[in-house]
Amino acid sequence: MAFDIQKIRNDFPILKRQVNGYPLVYLDNAATSQKPQAVIDCIVDYYSHYNANIHRGVHTLSQEATDAYEEARKKIQKHFNIENAYEVIFTAGTTHGINLVASGFSEILRKADEVIVSALEHHSNIVPWQMLCEKTDAKLKVIPMNTDGTLDLSEYKKLLSEKTKLVFVNHISNALGTINPIEEIIEKAHAVGAAVLVDGAQSCSHIKPDLQELKVDFYVTSAHKMCGPTGVGMLYIKEEWGKKLPPYQGGGEMIKEVTFERTTYADLPHKFEAGTPNICGGIAFGAAIDYLNEVGYEEIQQHEDELLKYATKKLKEIELLTIYGDTPNKTSVISFNIEGIHPYDIGTIIDKLGIAVRTGHHCAQPIMDFYKIPGTVRASFAFYNTLEEVDALVNAVKKAKLMLT
Ligand code: PMP
Repeated sequence: MAFDIQKIRNDFPILKRQVNGYPLVYLDNAATSQKPQAVIDCIVDYYSHYNANIHRGVHTLSQEATDAYEEARKKIQKHFNIENAYEVIFTAGTTHGINLVASGFSEILRKADEVIVSALEHHSNIVPWQMLCEKTDAKLKVIPMNTDGTLDLSEYKKLLSEKTKLVFVNHISNALGTINPIEEIIEKAHAVGAAVLVDGAQSCSHIKPDLQELKVDFYVTSAHKMCGPTGVGMLYIKEEWGKKLPPYQGGGEMIKEVTFERTTYADLPHKFEAGTPNICGGIAFGAAIDYLNEVGYEEIQQHEDELLKYATKKLKEIELLTIYGDTPNKTSVISFNIEGIHPYDIGTIIDKLGIAVRTGHHCAQPIMDFYKIPGTVRASFAFYNTLEEVDALVNAVKKAKLMLT
């Protein structure tokens, strides 16, 4: 499909709305993406025609819902080039996936063990591991960051040893947009026998990771960042880890047999999917993946790259404006501040002009501490944004600056 921005924008009903009397300019895509009509229709269709619980009933509706849910699992498998569909675990999102793995490792880690996190992480990929270390007495080490928002890989190499059991790092930083060299990070971790979890919450709307090629052990993401609904995501768990880790939650669906003396657990993926899942969400996640593939990842990247370059150039023309994490290897996220102005004030004023950006620490306080700032204004672009919207952002920021200085 040729990249026709107007046609694409027509797929997103929300982009037609006005905010405070201005056309909505939605630049908070790193927080959550907007939903195309195909995904909205999928949700309406499910609840209108075949809502039923899955894997349980013999009746037609239950069978239809089960088939659609398992079909979605296969779509995810194919999309990420995962060897087996049973290595795809449906979760409530990235946070849930990380907690599931961290909880499993509490039975594996020992006192002298070490785990490595990066300085660029979202709190979701820090706090569960800190809790794990508190429980197990394992040691948490941190890969430091450079001023340009990249990771210091020479320090990473020094942190690795035979004591390292697990490395967890994001594919793309939500606060700065940096694309991390996860291929190298995985290779080096595996060389010392450590497993790797990659947090793909920010990557999967921009790139299509090939998980077999990456040889990663765990990969987590959220559907809502990929044009899908909230409350659903996926954990890729390499089969050997799926067998090794204990279940996260007990309940229906995750068992083979239950007696009061003893319970045996179901095989993958059900072992990690206790209770009634987000059935509609899973099916709509599949529809979102279909939609993104129809638009095409190459086209998405080209367009977003154009937006990023143009916005970076235009914003840099504003005096006293600093962009954080200005490395060439980044996606369409721009975090910035204007000297002497609180990011929250800029965000509030430009919202009055219809422009939605995020302000604050972006759940990445260690990054803000590194730059010694309370937070940033973050504009994050998606493939449905336009160069005209970049102009609207830049003009609005200029206006806010005038008002606030
Ligand atoms: N990691 C990163 C890099 C993120 O950007 C986010 C969402 N902002 C998360 C983890 C958490 O994702 P969720 O809230 O969907 O669980």
